[in-house]
Amino acid sequence: MSTEGALFLVSVGPGFMDLVPERAKKALTESQVIVGYDLYLRWVLPWIQNKQIETFPLTQERRRAERALELARQGKQVSLVSSGDIGIYGMATLALELLKEEDTFPVEVIPGISAANACAALLGAPLAHDFATLSLSDLLCPWEWIETRAQHLAQADLVVVLYNVQSRSRSQGVYRILEILKTFKSTETWCGIVRNAYREEQSVECCKLGELSHRQFDMLTTLVIGNRFTQPKREFLFTPRGYVGWAEPSLSAQQTELPRKAVWVFSGTSDGNEIVRSLHHQGIPVIVSVATEQGAQTWREQKIPVVWGSLGRERRHQVLHQHQASLLVDATHPYASRMTLQLQQLSVDLEIPCLRYERPSTLVGDELCGDSIEKVSALALKSGKRILLATGSHQVAEFLRQDHHRQAEWFVRCAPTSESLRELEQAGVPLSQICAQQGPFSVEENQMLLERWKIEVLVTKDSGKAGGYLEKYQAAKALGIPLIVLQRPRFHVAQSYSDISALITRTQQVMNNDD
Ligand code: SAH
Repeated sequence: MSTEGALFLVSVGPGFMDLVPERAKKALTESQVIVGYDLYLRWVLPWIQNKQIETFPLTQERRRAERALELARQGKQVSLVSSGDIGIYGMATLALELLKEEDTFPVEVIPGISAANACAALLGAPLAHDFATLSLSDLLCPWEWIETRAQHLAQADLVVVLYNVQSRSRSQGVYRILEILKTFKSTETWCGIVRNAYREEQSVECCKLGELSHRQFDMLTTLVIGNRFTQPKREFLFTPRGYVGWAEPSLSAQQTELPRKAVWVFSGTSDGNEIVRSLHHQGIPVIVSVATEQGAQTWREQKIPVVWGSLGRERRHQVLHQHQASLLVDATHPYASRMTLQLQQLSVDLEIPCLRYERPSTLVGDELCGDSIEKVSALALKSGKRILLATGSHQVAEFLRQDHHRQAEWFVRCAPTSESLRELEQAGVPLSQICAQQGPFSVEENQMLLERWKIEVLVTKDSGKAGGYLEKYQAAKALGIPLIVLQRPRFHVAQSYSDISALITRTQQVMNNDD
């Protein structure tokens, strides 16, 4: 008489014997056949001795599930095994999809500790409030879905756990997702990087969202991106639940003296500074918003109200609403696309106008241009082996990642700040290939640097007059070195100005309500 088969869909946890659920051990012990993937069977060896074991490579999930069902149909007690929780990016759903109407054998799903809660425990308690998980693998779903979901999750300020972060064939996606997250979340958001949780070679690190883009990951890594309340304590990260209130440390102390119904100028550029001074001079209430505390200092000295810091959209919304902001002026750098997007969205949400100032382009017309780092890097690599990036430090890691075969030597000129140097160090640029100096630079100074390093290609941005573009152009021309320009990101902005006085006039009109 053939006995009735059974299928156990068994979760075996992150990779540590002590975290294999009791119920999973029982199912494995009772099974005659174990179907799985080698790696995930390593920490359940004591419960699968002397059993029929069928392993398949990682990519053959469908064959694994079909085989398990087939064996159960033959009357065998079968365990189909997944790491973590078998129901979370695991095999359970595939087995259920392939289960037929006529299959009557019992099926039991046994829950386990998924990477999200294993990694969260190692980090502390980052998932204590609402959170979501997002897999960055597009093997089974279109990449656009992943981007759209990332956007919604960040917009809702959920803590996000990223699974399947990066593989050799999917090396760029994670950086795209981090960019999307940064459009809504502050670059100061606390994050955790956990690799091989509860396995040999476990590593656990905390850092800020802004730092993640310089890092490399793999398929053994899970990232936890906090919400705006997530904070560190000792070696831990935690996300408060509200027991001790919802105070946000950033900004609260700066906010006391801010005027209401003011024009908020988002600056950080010399043009922005000119706009602020002009408005202030005309007696229009103005608040400057800059990225760093260093940038805030000069405004404090001039007794002009200033706030600083990278805020997520949610928090920025709150602050502007609290102070009844009348008008937003976006005078950020032409390449500060995250900030421009955030301000455009806030303008819609808060129903207040946003005027954008964009300094005129000074492109001459005969330079080589590309509209993405990928294209610009490809052009640069085609043109020479010693490349100078005069594009600022933020995107250097991204440029270097495009040099898959390490064909070129990359040199960088950046601002003399500890943040820039840290970024370049993380990107792997040797100190001897960094020139940290404050611009503007004359044609001669540019030439000297190009000659000293025997540069063969110069890469820069369309940074206009204030960015010293023409001086770079002329230096490259004089030495016969190709110049490659990363074009500005394009935005659909309703009210954009390239003339400061026109923007000031419009600001006066809005403030006087005489539209
Ligand atoms: N069913 C599994 C997830 C499979 S998807 C679970 O519930 O955990 C595979 C991804 O999970 C990996 O790319 C990685 O992002 C994450 N992961 C699985 N085990 C992990 C571990 N021990 N440490 C860190 N991340 C892990």
